Amino acid sequence: MRMSKLFVQTLREFPADAEVMSHKLLVRAGYIRKLTNGVYNYLPLMWRVLKKVENIVREEMDAAGAQELLMPFVQPAELWSESGRWDVYGKELMRLKDRHGREMCLGPTHEEVITSIAREGIRSYKQLPVNLYQIQSKFRDEIRPRFGLLRGREFIMKDAYSFDVDEQGLDKSYEIMAEAYRKIFERCGLETKMVQSDSGAIGGSVSHEFMVLVNEEAENNAGENDVFYCTKCGYSANSNHAVSILNEVETDGKFTKAEIIDTPNTHSIEELAAFLKVPASVICKSLIYVVDGKYVMALIRGDRTVEETKLMNVFAGNDIRIARNDEIEEIMNVSGFNAIPGFIGPKGLKNIEIVADETVKELKNFVIGCNQTDKHLVGANWGIDVELPTKIADVRLVEENDKCVECGSNLKVTKGIEVGNIFKLGTKYSKAMNATFTDKDGQEKPFIMGCYGIGISRTAAAAVERHHDEFGIKWPVAIAPYTVIIVPVSDQDETQMKVAEDIYNKLLSFGVEVLIDDRSERAGVKLKDADLIGIPYRITVGKTIKDGLVEFKTRATNETITITPEDAIKKIQEIK
Ligand code: ATP
Ligand code: MG
Repeated sequence: MRMSKLFVQTLREFPADAEVMSHKLLVRAGYIRKLTNGVYNYLPLMWRVLKKVENIVREEMDAAGAQELLMPFVQPAELWSESGRWDVYGKELMRLKDRHGREMCLGPTHEEVITSIAREGIRSYKQLPVNLYQIQSKFRDEIRPRFGLLRGREFIMKDAYSFDVDEQGLDKSYEIMAEAYRKIFERCGLETKMVQSDSGAIGGSVSHEFMVLVNEEAENNAGENDVFYCTKCGYSANSNHAVSILNEVETDGKFTKAEIIDTPNTHSIEELAAFLKVPASVICKSLIYVVDGKYVMALIRGDRTVEETKLMNVFAGNDIRIARNDEIEEIMNVSGFNAIPGFIGPKGLKNIEIVADETVKELKNFVIGCNQTDKHLVGANWGIDVELPTKIADVRLVEENDKCVECGSNLKVTKGIEVGNIFKLGTKYSKAMNATFTDKDGQEKPFIMGCYGIGISRTAAAAVERHHDEFGIKWPVAIAPYTVIIVPVSDQDETQMKVAEDIYNKLLSFGVEVLIDDRSERAGVKLKDADLIGIPYRITVGKTIKDGLVEFKTRATNETITITPEDAIKKIQEIK
């Protein structure tokens, strides 16, 4: 392709609304243009990258025995009512009505549609196992679309669904997909960690995420997930699912008498601990949340933090947020109190479900809110001064240097971008939608399902997060839009142009994806653009051509060597 013809406009500046490098670079290098919030045009260079990622995914999915199909983007509400998700999926689901007033949605994922296909198409165990996948645009009305392609509202996903006769079959299908995912990301030039994760709105029991770790780059905040991992035994999990053994801390408050005392202006745990001169770990924190519109209270030791997804799961919820001050006021009123946040406790509260984190069980002679402003109960003990809630669960966030549950070593934390996700769904959808097959013994049984997603557009953006420098993108060869760019330094120099054209034509004839910068631009502009766009190899034809030499640059390392045009061609052929 000739740069003079290529549809690309590079920009001098980064876009003002971009926070992370992949967003900044993909816009500036002319790969994407925003159409509206969270919705992007994939321009020709981007489309080439996306097709390469897609093809790697396709090859590995096919090699793993999966079959490609394509389901509609638009889905009828009835199917979502069958699975029960029409009411619970929330605002992320883009709902619309057709001209007859029938409710529809734009597919954010396709469990319902695929289950309806299996229900009609699979009658017997003899047709199982089967794994069906598609590559398609998805729509999710994300609450905070941001970071360019990393979190769009419309994005490209590969989604696969497996159907098995039993759990062992599912285990096998799941392992085959995990292996395919490892290969896919490796081929895309991405090192990933497979971590345990929460199953979220998709449902099911076991799930893993494939994370691209991005901690190394100090200023990089593109990793939206915290991943806890053990360097000794390999345990790793998303923070929304991670568990740990806690280090020993002081849990006996040493208050000899249970009494309500004045604790003026102690709105936070830190202020309260400082005022009472006790460690935060002898304070029981009481926090109010709203889960699916219902108030719940979480009790947790003062030195720890609530993990909201874990808390939400205790109540089988789909949505969680911390209660607002006016809502807390309402709860106080209903129960006949008028304390302000900071002084709230579980005792005497009405119309609220309470869950205690495991950490509060061991507390003795502790400090807790008593629903009176500027006062706390000290020297409290469970069963005597305050009832221990019957619901006890692990609802805490793991912290760095907690102990690994598998081997007892210290856990570490890092940031990650989730590029893929695999789930064991079991019978969640097949049972709800009555999708069954006839087993060997003649019995009708629901399919045992798994589902497996990869963000195609997010994977491409994650590759930019991992592979760039201050000059631009450094595409891994396998997903680069072109492999080589040839830059004649001066388009006025006939020899340079002739040699450049010659290399270009030879590489084309060998099937290499090659660009030639034949524009009448200054050398500086052309070289800068080549670095910005991130083509893995650059052959620069300049003054040294009078000695029969060109410059060969490897973008990944920015190393340059001077070689003959023939050797440059040979090197590219070796890479291919
Ligand atoms: P997240 O937790 O990041 O919102 P998710 O868990 O909701 O993602 P899945 O339902 O597991 O996402 O979707 C499968 C894959 O699709 C994800 O692993 C991710 O790579 C990609 N993906 C999900 N949401 C988006 C989005 N808004 N923009 C781009 N890619 C996305
Ligand atoms: Mg996910």
